[in-house]
Amino acid sequence: MPNTKGYAAYSPTDEIKPFDFDRREVGANDVKIEIDYCGVCHSDIHTAHNDWGMSQYPVVPGHEILGRVTEVGSEVSQFKKGELVAVGCMVDSCKQCDSCKDGLEQFCPNMVMTYASPDPVMGGVTHGGYATQIVVDSHFVLKVSDKLDIKGVPPLLCAGITTYSPLRHWGIGPGMKVGVIGLGGLGHMGVKFASAMGAHTVMITTSPEKGEDAKRLGAKEVLVSKDPEQMQAHAGSFDFLLNTVPVAHDLNPYMPLLKNEKTMVLLGATPVDLHSMGLVFGRKHIAGSLIGGIKETQEMLDFCAEHNIVSDIEMINIQDINQAWDRVMKGDVKYRFVIDMQSLKD
Ligand code: NAP
Ligand code: ZN
Repeated sequence: MPNTKGYAAYSPTDEIKPFDFDRREVGANDVKIEIDYCGVCHSDIHTAHNDWGMSQYPVVPGHEILGRVTEVGSEVSQFKKGELVAVGCMVDSCKQCDSCKDGLEQFCPNMVMTYASPDPVMGGVTHGGYATQIVVDSHFVLKVSDKLDIKGVPPLLCAGITTYSPLRHWGIGPGMKVGVIGLGGLGHMGVKFASAMGAHTVMITTSPEKGEDAKRLGAKEVLVSKDPEQMQAHAGSFDFLLNTVPVAHDLNPYMPLLKNEKTMVLLGATPVDLHSMGLVFGRKHIAGSLIGGIKETQEMLDFCAEHNIVSDIEMINIQDINQAWDRVMKGDVKYRFVIDMQSLKD
């Protein structure tokens, strides 16, 4: 009998279904975690559907993992049985390259993603958090404050760090006007963080009906990107734009929003259209950003504990996952699905 129950995509087009498999034995530096909750990221769907052309099946998605330690390896002193912990998008790296030494494990050439990445220990590919348990190198395990409403914590491990990291890197703070494009899982965390950091935060959305929510989440203004008059009214006024759009789209209408010399950061891994004129006039920048390092992820979790920030979530059972994915693809989620993993254990 395999030691772990999970759910997997078996092909780019099938619904995801039960899949049992073996996790590795706990090694000297490992932590074994019983998973209580796992968030649902749009990347889970991109990978299952092979949108990036490199998926190997079966894909067990899930990189927003929260649970309790059930066992630690002989060399692990920083975690103990019963402790509340989390795992995000990475489960290993070389720990020796410049990126690893700089705390930027996400850029290590040997970084191992939590799912659908070649598995250096078990062979095949790694399996993520749509499962009852996981065994992870302790360097990639995060501590979570018991003070937070833990059901809203899992999405911090991807949607949270992915938006926190660029906001910190580009020094967002009071006196700056920041636009967050797309009110989904990443976007709603972007709005919470940018406003907690003191910026004047504007939600830039295709969905006018999300406006009220955006304000509740911390946005001072709402800008409907499909309305050229509204876009014109905000021209040349933004210090920073955080773009979370998950599908191919046209950047050109957004570039005039930036002040000269300012930056739009792209988070979605998707083709975009851009005429260089949008950058040339005003020496503007386009950049990308990938999750965040382990040290910064712990800093983000501590920031959340200090500011009482968690995700706004809709809890589902694993058996409802296919309908939940359909809703994510329609932009119909407020604002992250989290799977109650008890539904897989019953
Ligand atoms: P999500 O929950 O589906 O939210 C995306 C939002 O984008 C939607 O709610 C919608 O908001 C907006 N949108 C959708 N289609 C659009 C279109 N055609 N034009 C303009 N806006 C559109 O997705 P997510 O989980 O936040 O993920 C967002 C992207 O980030 C995905 O591609 C994911 O793979 C990627 N990602 C990247 C990293 C990284 O490290 N860089 C990490 C995690 C995820 P409105 O209704 O408000 O317009
Ligand atoms: Zn993610």
